[in-house]
Amino acid sequence: MNQASHVESPDGPAPAQGAPEAPSHPLPDFSDTEKTFSHLSDGELKGAGRLFSLMGKSWLSHFLSKLGSWAVRWRLPFAEWGVRNTIYRQFVGGTSLKNALPTIERLHKRGVTSIMDYGAEAKESEEDFDRFRDEILKAAKLSGTTEAVDSVVVKITGLAPNHLLEKFNGRTIRFDEPDDPVFTRVIERLDQVCQAASESNIEIYIDAEESWFQGTIDQLADEMMRRYNQKRGVVLNTYQLYRHDRLEFLKRSHERAQAGGYILGCKLVRGAYMVKEAKRAEEGGYPTPIQPNIEATHADYNAAVEYCIDHIEEVSFLVGSHNEASVRLLTESLDRRGIARNHPHARCAQLLGMSDNLTFNLAAGGYNSSKYMVYGPVAEVLPYLVRRAQENTSVTGEMGRELRMIKDELRRRRS
Ligand SMILES: Cc1cc2nc3c(=O)[nH]c(=O)nc-3n(C[C@H](O)[C@H](O)[C@H](O)COP(=O)(O)OP(=O)(O)OC[C@H]3O[C@@H](n4cnc5c(N)ncnc54)[C@H](O)[C@@H]3O)c2cc1C
Repeated sequence: MNQASHVESPDGPAPAQGAPEAPSHPLPDFSDTEKTFSHLSDGELKGAGRLFSLMGKSWLSHFLSKLGSWAVRWRLPFAEWGVRNTIYRQFVGGTSLKNALPTIERLHKRGVTSIMDYGAEAKESEEDFDRFRDEILKAAKLSGTTEAVDSVVVKITGLAPNHLLEKFNGRTIRFDEPDDPVFTRVIERLDQVCQAASESNIEIYIDAEESWFQGTIDQLADEMMRRYNQKRGVVLNTYQLYRHDRLEFLKRSHERAQAGGYILGCKLVRGAYMVKEAKRAEEGGYPTPIQPNIEATHADYNAAVEYCIDHIEEVSFLVGSHNEASVRLLTESLDRRGIARNHPHARCAQLLGMSDNLTFNLAAGGYNSSKYMVYGPVAEVLPYLVRRAQENTSVTGEMGRELRMIKDELRRRRS
């Protein structure tokens, strides 16, 4: 990780890595709403509360996200204004890198670095793929010049046509001699952004997507890790632990990295496409790749966190989660084993607009803490916003988690 951006504990330097020792300072208090929301006025806090309350009603959230997407796409008057002043303001850093700078700075003042994620999804033309690559190159360049930004994100569906990603899913890609000129350009674009990350001394996260693309994405990620992770974890692939096969896959990826002499880079998430996966599996008449229940997802997720900590010198990882138990597991496990809280191979991140109680209290406690910051024009980031709306209903997430915290803080301020 970008060494320059490490956050020291306000109580003094974190313990050095070595023999396990008792933590020298207390674990973060994730229920401290005063610290969490200190940057928000009463009015801003109430606005966020109204938004999460609306999103908690799944039928309304579903209806509004469909209506909003349709209205923005068809450029209906006031539609863009409406989205921008509600859900967009909560979850998106700005329409461009430049517009996101105030948010980046605000986070950095509290010891939190930004992971820049240009919000374009599923493109189909060569010009669009090149434009997406250029956006990432711009973000990599910026990251190299400020400690406030220490990594960038790439979505492979933003660099390659979907049909090609599906075609190579489950097939072995021959990187020395790809048998498709369009795919050769995909590899070149990905190589360019990974090389830029390497040269800027930052990380690049390859997002995980739907299972029918993921086999191709995994092969591309492995190849980039082989090229760029020889000395440090520049490229990180994503493991969706809501899939029942991913814990095993993580262990096999680690074995491959060991055999290839490179550092495994991994971002651990539960996964964002559960509804889509179930629907497609049912329609296609094949077994779903998703775990049988949420407890199995939690168990594999936490086992993956422990696995990465067990191999921290060989694996550079990011815990991407809003689940307090998983984040607590990371903090307790690092402390229990006497591993430095700001070890360059361990980082935790939440999405912008969610779980500030984890992000800010982790940073204050001396852990490497980041926000995944999506930015881009309103029409481009709509699919991302729809996913956030779905995640904050009762169907997938811990219902009302954000709302509960906001209400607690409003109550505290009144008393
Ligand atoms: C930094 C960061 C990066 C991310 N990058 C990606 C990415 O590249 N690709 C991606 O897909 N997602 C990504 N996500 C989104 C992430 O997948 C969701 O935010 C996450 O699933 C929400 O889970 P949680 O860990 O916050 O925990 P919780 O909110 O406690 O868990 C909810 C999750 O559990 C799973 N789940 C719910 N019900 C069931 C069930 N019945 N059976 C099985 N599993 C169930 C689902 O994954 C659901 O989202 C990222 C998130 C973060 C914070």
